[in-house]
Amino acid sequence: MFKALTQVPRVLPPFAARRRASSAATRGRTLADQVAVITGSTKGIGFSIARRLAQDGAHVVISSRKQQNVDQAVAELRKEGLSVTGTVCHVGKTEDQHKLVATALEHCGAVDFLVCVAGVNPMVGSTLGSSEQVWDKVLNVNVKAPALLLSQLLPYMEKREGSSVILVSSAGVYSPHAMLGVYNVSKTALLGLTKTLAAELAPKNIRVNCLMPGVIETDFSQLFEGPNLWNHIKVFYGVQRLGRPEDCAGIVSFLCSPDASYITGESIVVAGFSPRL
Ligand code: NAP
Repeated sequence: MFKALTQVPRVLPPFAARRRASSAATRGRTLADQVAVITGSTKGIGFSIARRLAQDGAHVVISSRKQQNVDQAVAELRKEGLSVTGTVCHVGKTEDQHKLVATALEHCGAVDFLVCVAGVNPMVGSTLGSSEQVWDKVLNVNVKAPALLLSQLLPYMEKREGSSVILVSSAGVYSPHAMLGVYNVSKTALLGLTKTLAAELAPKNIRVNCLMPGVIETDFSQLFEGPNLWNHIKVFYGVQRLGRPEDCAGIVSFLCSPDASYITGESIVVAGFSPRL
């Protein structure tokens, strides 16, 4: 499986040809011969995105802070016959960002997609009661890191045709929870980053879009409300269930695919209800 990663063709067919192909013979392998780098992808939403993009034919570079988690995630997906490799990358650490870029290039020779999933919320409490350390950590990991990582990958992504970036924000930004203020500010900033980068990178044919999950059943959402999560929120819900990581993965796959080639600067809510006009 590892071998497959080293065999990515350096020269791909033109985007238009790939687009035609994806509508017929290769449907289901819409991302064949393309390379995806995904942060925060050893469990939860990121892991599900990694599995889906690999199932769709992409070579996927998995990453997160802990080596053990990376090893486990890579082993699980390789067992499924998927083409993945992995490296440790704490997105807030510059040296780890370099390592992630180097790993992608070493194993795949190119990068088509960057999916920034890693996000932190170290504190549940009032916005104005948050310390400077909390502000720095949240803004550093959730907002600065995706931009800095992308700036390192840009020279490689712009050489490809039809590259795409997906930032993971939160549907919560439309109805902020008072106790998640700093986190919420960071996720709102990602909408600004999406719009700004979409305009900046459109001339390079790189699209930038944003995924806005509602409450998705992962360890991250349990931290906030605990096992009674559903009782707290079901009154708001149209679709009477919590979200699943796979609900997010399909949207990311679509945003990477040629079918989304005319969509940029957009945000898509995956929440079982619509919080906006
Ligand atoms: P999760 O299940 O807790 O998974 C988090 C993943 O990110 C793990 O692979 C973790 O692995 C990694 N990670 C954490 N901090 C990292 C860092 N600094 N650098 C790199 N990797 C890091 O969380 P999730 O629910 O899938 O959430 C993923 C994203 O979705 C977050 O940005 C979150 O804000 C957003 N989101 C989630 C929900 C929800 O309801 N779940 C709703 C809205 C938005 P390691 O521990 O090995 O680093």
